[in-house]
Amino acid sequence: MNLFEQTLQQLKKAATLFNINKNTISILAFPQKIIQTTLPLRMDSGELKIFLAFRVQYNNARGPYKGGLRYHEGVNLEEIKALALLMVIKCSVVNIPYGGSKGGITVDPKILSGNELEKLTRAYVETFYKNVGALVDIPAPDINTNPQIMAWFFDEYSKLAQENVPAVVTGKPVELGGSLGREEATAQGGLYVLIEALKKLKINPKGATIAIQGFGNVGKNIARMLEDKGFKIMGLSDSKDGIKASKQPLSIRYVQECKMRKGFIAGCYCIGSVCDIDNKKELGVVDIPSQEVLEMDVDIIIPAALENQITEENADKIKAKVVLEMANGPTASEAYEILKKKNITVIPDVLANAGGVTVSYFEWVQNLSGDRWTKDKVNESLKEVMVKSFSDVWTKSQQFKQDLRTSACGLALERIEKVINLRTT
Ligand code: NAD
Repeated sequence: MNLFEQTLQQLKKAATLFNINKNTISILAFPQKIIQTTLPLRMDSGELKIFLAFRVQYNNARGPYKGGLRYHEGVNLEEIKALALLMVIKCSVVNIPYGGSKGGITVDPKILSGNELEKLTRAYVETFYKNVGALVDIPAPDINTNPQIMAWFFDEYSKLAQENVPAVVTGKPVELGGSLGREEATAQGGLYVLIEALKKLKINPKGATIAIQGFGNVGKNIARMLEDKGFKIMGLSDSKDGIKASKQPLSIRYVQECKMRKGFIAGCYCIGSVCDIDNKKELGVVDIPSQEVLEMDVDIIIPAALENQITEENADKIKAKVVLEMANGPTASEAYEILKKKNITVIPDVLANAGGVTVSYFEWVQNLSGDRWTKDKVNESLKEVMVKSFSDVWTKSQQFKQDLRTSACGLALERIEKVINLRTT
């Protein structure tokens, strides 16, 4: 089963357990709109290259479509459909007034120059201009897209609309109407949820050991925040390789600096304020294959890279007590059943990584009202949403004796069903 089929199957299961009308599932079994096209791009070399581009507007019963824009060589329609459906569920779990969508371009942005990346982004906006809008569909960053790309998006859209429309896209640089705290929001939200979960599971955060897969926006920020809170980060990885510490925890700031210099995490053996770049093995840090970071003997693992990373093949090797799903769809459904049997608590993506879209919502509110929030106001409001959402999901799971993913889906479906009924005569 691919991620889309898995997500739909989870929803169907939750629908049965939570008495959701079958019409609601029939509506959610199909996206409302799929837009796909090819984008021709004249490369700096003069060569013409063609890239596939997508936007899936899944459902807007609860509000405008909302969802990230992903640039990755693996992007395909089935993946974008699945991620758009997850956005519908996620926005409902945290109870913000959005539907769900997702977009992407099948491209490895690392092969593009800055100029090519900008031209490709502007070509995407030109093509999808009629389909997005501040009250229609609001993109945001996802894998390999960032505030600069959102700035180009906003600029191109505003040129075409002949008016400044900052609310058409979130995750912009602060100078262009981005929200303070947006860049770290997904990680910050995940941290709030994890702390609540650990209280319920009676695990002491101080000294709890962690391994994180992915060291981009989400992985890097959550690693730093966890380190500040006294968690011990014992393993990290990026798309190339991973590192594993066996004695003392890794020093995130130094690993980050090292990765910036080298371009990858492998070989960044940093403990305290020392980085053993000569690999004398004195610090007890070694390189491991990226995938193995998830199999480390730690209390908590955090997949923060791509989907389908915990599968039937490695689920049995997972030793952690808690999985915090910061990536979208990192656990395949067969693997999920194995983790459940092993009594491992999975904090599902639709809750764990919803901090990003929540602060995107705050950014949109600020743009539409012409207001500017302080970082404290953003973080306090985010904490309120994440703590309440965790409590709603936890309460449901206790009430119905179901796992957190099924309960989050059940809660989301109840809210979606309510608005569908209210909107349908
Ligand atoms: P990013 O592009 O900033 O970083 C991705 C990281 O994953 C990079 O460090 C990359 O090297 C690493 N990676 C890629 N393939 C890997 C592999 N096979 N093994 C190990 N590492 C690998 O992306 P991001 O914004 O940090 O997003 C990460 C995940 O979080 C994605 O699933 C995304 O959908 C999800 N997410 C992101 C946000 C957000 O606000 N950025 C919000 C919600 C969910």
